[in-house]
Amino acid sequence: MTIWNLGSINADMVYAVPHLPRPGETLPASDLSRFLGGKGANMSVAAARAGAGVRHIGAVGPDGLWAAKRLAGYGVDTRHVAQAEAPTGHAIIAVESSGENLILLFPGANREIGADHLTRALGEARAGDLLVMQNETNAQVEAARMGRDLGLTVCYAAAPFDAEAVQAVLPYLDFLILNEVEAEQLQQATGLAPAELPVTQVIVTLGSKGARYFDTESGEFADFPALKVEAVDTTGAGDTFTGYVLAGMDRGMPMPQAIDLAMRAAAIMVTRHGTADVIPDLAEVQRARL
Ligand code: ATP
Repeated sequence: MTIWNLGSINADMVYAVPHLPRPGETLPASDLSRFLGGKGANMSVAAARAGAGVRHIGAVGPDGLWAAKRLAGYGVDTRHVAQAEAPTGHAIIAVESSGENLILLFPGANREIGADHLTRALGEARAGDLLVMQNETNAQVEAARMGRDLGLTVCYAAAPFDAEAVQAVLPYLDFLILNEVEAEQLQQATGLAPAELPVTQVIVTLGSKGARYFDTESGEFADFPALKVEAVDTTGAGDTFTGYVLAGMDRGMPMPQAIDLAMRAAAIMVTRHGTADVIPDLAEVQRARL
């Protein structure tokens, strides 16, 4: 089976600064590092590192060919990553020595995915494949609708949270994953608790407390406590968790087993700095003594 990911690809530009700039201030940075980022790219890398066949549907600008190449280098099929005229989506991240940061996000090419592009890509999908989306691209509803029509398992990670965006795709979803805050926001917007959502399976991640899985058809839920680790940076933990869960689902694993593996991968992630570039592969996750 294949995991199709309609997802963002960002260049994360991290500038080291003596302090966060104030309005009107021009501030020289002492260092610049460039990383592959974006929730979409992170999830594709995580699912590929977990052993799944992943095809990424997205777009980069003329300045982002390196990012698409790096994604391919992590084992993700990038034949459906188009080159747009808009600049590549990017985050300008200023970090001071205390770790405090300031982030400016420009979606750029991530919001320029055309209907033809989507139809061409999903035209190669087979019933039973998985389709995943997050809220960093355009065309989510079109993709979800197409996915449902093609008999794909349609999955959505509701981040960055936008109540309207989730509600627009909700009728087409089989699987929804969101964190605790997003679950509360969705309940406020819809009046529906996770167990009441019109989706077959829901996972609510709870940070250092773990995750809760709802099988809405049977009405049952199960709690998975997080592994105890020394956390230094939780960025990318959620995306890694989702990528690993999807890879498990794609392989036909029972959900508790997929969550168990995802939890181990996410626990490793919180012990290191960085995102896509440091996601552990399956062998490392299986080897880790957690
Ligand atoms: P982010 O946006 O920071 O990547 P998120 O808000 O989408 O994350 P979280 O609920 O914070 O997602 O975390 C996802 C999963 O990562 C959790 O379900 C858990 O398995 C793991 N995790 C997160 N924080 C910790 C931690 N401090 N210790 C162990 N595991 C953690």
